[in-house]
Order: sequence, then C-alpha cells, then structure tokens
Amino acid sequence: KDKSSVTITVVGASGDLAKKKIFPALFALYYEDCLPEHFTIFGYARSKMTDAELRDMVSKTLTCRIDKRANCGEKMEQFLKRCFYHSGQYDSEANFAELDKKLKEHEAGTIANRLFYLSIPPNIFINAVKSASISASSANGWTRVIVEKPFGRDSESSAALTTALKQYLEEDQIFRIDHYLGKELVENLSVLRFSNLIFEPLWSRQFIRNVQLIFSEDFGTEGRGGYFDNYGIVRDIMQNHLLQILALFAMETPVSLDAEDIRNEKVKVLRSMRPIQLDDVVIGQYKSHTRGGVNYPAYTDDKTVPHNSLTPTFAAAALFIDNARWDGVPFLMKAGKALHDRRTEIRVQFRHVPGNLYKRNFGTNLDHETNELVIRVQPDEAIYLKINNKVPGLGMRLDRSNLNLLYSTRYSGEIPDAYERLLLDAVEGERRLFIRSDELDAAWSLFTPVLKDLEDKKTVPEYYPYGSRGPVGAHYLAAKYKVRWGDFAGDQ
Ligand code: NAP
Repeated sequence: KDKSSVTITVVGASGDLAKKKIFPALFALYYEDCLPEHFTIFGYARSKMTDAELRDMVSKTLTCRIDKRANCGEKMEQFLKRCFYHSGQYDSEANFAELDKKLKEHEAGTIANRLFYLSIPPNIFINAVKSASISASSANGWTRVIVEKPFGRDSESSAALTTALKQYLEEDQIFRIDHYLGKELVENLSVLRFSNLIFEPLWSRQFIRNVQLIFSEDFGTEGRGGYFDNYGIVRDIMQNHLLQILALFAMETPVSLDAEDIRNEKVKVLRSMRPIQLDDVVIGQYKSHTRGGVNYPAYTDDKTVPHNSLTPTFAAAALFIDNARWDGVPFLMKAGKALHDRRTEIRVQFRHVPGNLYKRNFGTNLDHETNELVIRVQPDEAIYLKINNKVPGLGMRLDRSNLNLLYSTRYSGEIPDAYERLLLDAVEGERRLFIRSDELDAAWSLFTPVLKDLEDKKTVPEYYPYGSRGPVGAHYLAAKYKVRWGDFAGDQ
C-alpha cells in the first residue's frame, strides 16, 4: 500500500486558466490513471464557493478524449469527489493555515506531498508564496510550487521575483511553466534529432542556412488586452516560448536526458547568443480592416487598451548564436496576433546543393528550392521534409514534394494537452520541461536591452491590417539575411 499522498492546490481556482486548462488537465491525468492513489485537489481563491459549487464549475469544462467516452460520466463523478474548495485571501497566513488543516484531514497521516499551482496575476505571486510556504508547507513530504508566466517584464523585475521566491522556496521547489515545452512536437525535437542518424549530422552551420520560429494567431486581444498591453508580443511569446524552442533546437548533445544535463545545454545556447541589435527587430501593431463586409477592430479599439498604445502585437527578429556550430546562421523569429492564420512551426532551411547538376543541365530554378524541414507544433501536428523530386514521365521536370508525417493519419488518439504533461511532471518531480532560474536570467539578458531601446525611443510599430500576413518590414528583415520566410511559399 502506498503510504504517501499528493494534494494539488490550485491557487486562483476561480480564474480563467484554472477552468480552461488546469482542472481539465488534472481530470485527463486522473482518467489515464496517472495520478497517485491518494490524491486530493483543492481550489483556493477569494471568491466564496462551496465544494459543490466548485465541482459544478469544474464539471462544465471537463471533457473525455474521443476514443474514451465509455465510462466518462462515471469517471467525472469520481474525480469531482476528490475536488474541494477553500476560500481565502492570497496574503493571509491565517487563511492558508485553515487550508493546511483541511489538507491534513485528507492526508490522514500519510507522507504528505503538496503541489501548489499559482494561477493568479503576477502582482500577488509573492504574497501567495509567502503565506502558503509559511502556513501550508508539508511537514513530512515535498512541497512544490508551479509558477505561470510572466516571470517579470525585464531582467531587473525577473531577478527581483526570483530573489523574492527564493526567500521562501529552494530552486528545486520552483516549477516555472512554459507550456510550449509541454507540447508534443517540442518534446519530439530531441527525439527527431538525436535518434535519427540522418538529422544530427546535418544540424549545424555546415548544412543549415537558417532556422525560422514562427508563431501566429488569427485573432486579436478581443477585449482582454489589459494584461497584454503591459507586456507586448516580444515578452508574451518571443522571450519565453520561441526562445525556449530555439534553445532546445540548437543545444549541444546533453550528457543524458536528466533535467540538469538538458538545462545546462540550453543555458549554454542562451549565453552564447549575440546581443540583439535594434535594426534586427521589426515591430508591428494591427489596425482595423474590413473584409467581406465584416469590420475587424484595431488593437487600440480594444477597450482595455490605451488608445495611443505603441505596444507591439507583432514582432520579427534575427538572432545569432556565436558558437562553433551556429556561427553566422540566422535564427529568425516571428510572432503576431490578428494575422491570416493560426500556427506555430519551426522551419529549417538547408543550404543549396553545391554544383547542382539539374540546375546546370536543365536550367531548373532550384535556387530557392532547397530542402526544408518543417516541424508544425500546432495545429495539425506534423513533420515534413521538402525534397526535390522528378515529376513522373518521360521528360525531366522537377518539383518540390513533401515527405510527410501527419500525426492525425499516423497516430490514433488525441494528443495530450501540454498542461497534462507538465502537471504530471511536476507531481513526479521531473524538471526537464521547467525553466531554471539561470535560463530565465539568460533569456531576459538577451531581450531586455532591445525592449528598453524600443520603449525609450517610443518606436512606432508598423501598422498591418487585421487578418493580413503582417508588416512588410518582416520581409525586409529576412531579405537582409538573404532569407525568405518559409510560411510564405504557399504550402501548409
Ligand atoms: P485571472 O482569471 O485574471 O485570475 C485568476 C484569479 O485570481 C481570479 O479568478 C481571481 O480570483 C484572482 N484575482 C484576479 N485579479 C486579482 C487581483 N487583482 N488581486 C487579487 N486576486 C485577483 O487569471 P488567469 O487568466 O486565470 O491566469 C492566471 C495566471 O496564469 C496569470 O499569471 C496569467 O498571466 C497566467 N497565464 C494565463 C493564461 C490563460 O490562458 N488565461 C495563459 C498563460 C499564462 P478571486 O477573485 O476569486 O480571488
């Protein structure tokens, strides 16, 4: 019999993230029998709610995977019975002491492990950590805290947050979530590279001409711009999600798959990066646009955004890693809201075939037609490799075709949400996919100077129509490095 228990306390349980992601992910883990035998879930927030009301709220957002609908209702019932609620203030040690008492009743003398998920606005992180750690730490098991972004808004505020957290927690108790690291295809990056002989030997400046990290959303802030306006797209997407993917992509082979070995390699990449130059950055903001009789709003039409805001909703940047492997290879990042489609992908463009016979003999324009490896993180997860191929027939015509691994046709079953993997890892103490504080520092050192420059100079973003492909400046930036954005080549 297992003598240990785990309680997961969702701090800010009445909020959007808790409802949308955390409770559904916990249920999915329960459904898959991934949670320990003795587990209890507590919601904690200031809102007044009974256990029954919490269960009612949570039950509305639970879903079962398509292929596992059989006993779904029954499983939900069982899961909800494990969910409880305690109302309290975030800065109240007394309120957290009440929670502690309730937790103890459920733990019933087992080795009590406790996970706190801070799903609250950043200005109350520290108060909550302080009260929870003082009043509700486990007496005999582990206590861990999951923290959501934003981890500050520049080097200074991030360092202040880390220092404050470390007054109450050890580094190994802090789990900083970057949910992109929990995405299936991001997890797969290392597998693709390190367990296929055909990729790893090509993974360097010798064969790779440039790497592109692209994030786009086809909607704007839609009345929720209050938080966003204080951060902007560079902080919201680039400094964390895209940079994390870049570090994983570019790192040297780690000694092992242990969290510390992997994170050591990621930090090395981040610390080898050349400071970002202001003229290697393009910023944009979406403006209103009418299409098909529908009027799409400008960013500054959002009531929660100041009417004269210069906050970028789009950015493109060229980054460089000054080490032996990547010397001179541009890593182009692009992230934007209110663009023409929704996708996150990694595109690896390889060098030209030297002295290409087909170009010489047939005048085929293979100049742009180099091999490209595309890892589509979302939606419609896929990995495909563009190759030059002979069009069947008696003549000699070439075209570009895809060797295509589309997940939905190859693998049955739904892909777990990133939050499921990350929550499970936190419960199991697996830190590989969480951000260590030195990684965070390195990431901020890279972006803080350029962010400060943009803000000090009050740089006016380039305006692009809602639903378009973004500002033309992004093309000039790529052209400066003799690169074309792969997502403009017309393929999906
Ligand atoms: P939220 O709904 O705004 O806030 C969560 C809860 O915190 C609220 O239900 C509220 O609960 C309490 N709260 C809100 N404002 C407060 C204030 N000024 N003072 C004290 N308590 C306050 O936030 P969320 O969207 O769930 O996000 C939670 C955290 O995850 C944030 O750090 C956010 O940046 C991050 N995050 C969110 C998403 C997302 O998709 N929503 C994605 C990535 C990261 P009570 O009033 O009941 O106490």
